[in-house]
Amino acid sequence: MELLGVIGNPIAHSLSPAMHQAALKAAGKEGRYLAFLVEPEELGPAVYGAKALGFTGLNVTIPFKEQVLPYLDQLTPEAAAIQSVNTIAFSGGRIIGHSTDGAGFAAAAKHELGYDFSGKTALVVGAGGAARAVVAQLLAEQCRVYITNRTEQRARALLALAGGDTERLAVVPMQRQNLEPIMGRVDVVINTTSVGMAKNKEAAAGHPAELELPIAAELLLPRHLVIDIIYNPKRTLFLETAEKKGCRVQNGVGMLVWQAVKAWEFWWGITPPVDVMYQAVEASLP
Ligand code: NAP
Repeated sequence: MELLGVIGNPIAHSLSPAMHQAALKAAGKEGRYLAFLVEPEELGPAVYGAKALGFTGLNVTIPFKEQVLPYLDQLTPEAAAIQSVNTIAFSGGRIIGHSTDGAGFAAAAKHELGYDFSGKTALVVGAGGAARAVVAQLLAEQCRVYITNRTEQRARALLALAGGDTERLAVVPMQRQNLEPIMGRVDVVINTTSVGMAKNKEAAAGHPAELELPIAAELLLPRHLVIDIIYNPKRTLFLETAEKKGCRVQNGVGMLVWQAVKAWEFWWGITPPVDVMYQAVEASLP
């Protein structure tokens, strides 16, 4: 019996159990994948406990992707590059941390749209944890990247991912007059901020970000592929707006599914039934 799970806080709304459990069943693997709510001070004991209990692996989500690093014996190059872990394998007595977020992002574009980032120019909106994984992947795929973020200093911190090479990675202030001149050179616009994410009604009342756009609609051109890595709602206001402007669009469901596919490849070296994972996610989303 394979034991697996996802650790985070909050965790109740994670789609990972539904997605992985459905895939385990379809693949004929005997296993259980559960969601575990972990308090920050219990993170180490949770990881060591899973190892002691014979778990195959764990997924790690907000807010622990960086905080979990001290409890790991080894990082893969992908995780080391961004100092973030979303997948752990317990293997040969060691605790190995990996990140599948970037590879999942690129695989979704490749498999859903046949899109290849190599030689393209991207505008990444946001500079949080997800942006770090996306930017590192884009750079690895020889894509030129502009980053813009509400807190510009946070975007500047990502410049290290390209070793300060401003030909490959540059920060653009978020004001419209700064973004406008580059939009004609941009092929793909990627929202990695949480602006547009579904929140419960109470939270949305205090934070109207759900009803805002990550960048002004006027900046979008029909030549842009617009990717929003948010998956709930499936169709954000940003994607709806981009579609009206004639852009090709993609939501975050594919990234969610493909980061899970890449976790299976890391745990067992096999590809799970991808369609079953998509179906499980689609069935769990409003
Ligand atoms: P994070 O580290 O907290 O970063 C949040 C980002 O959003 C920051 O750049 C932040 O800007 C920006 N932001 C938040 N509220 C804003 C507002 N009102 N106006 C402008 N910018 C705002 O979060 P994360 O882990 O990167 O996740 C970001 C989003 O990606 C979430 O919606 C998450 O669900 C989604 N995600 C999807 C997948 C997938 O598999 N599809 C995977 C990972 C994450 P500041 O720096 O200025 O605060």
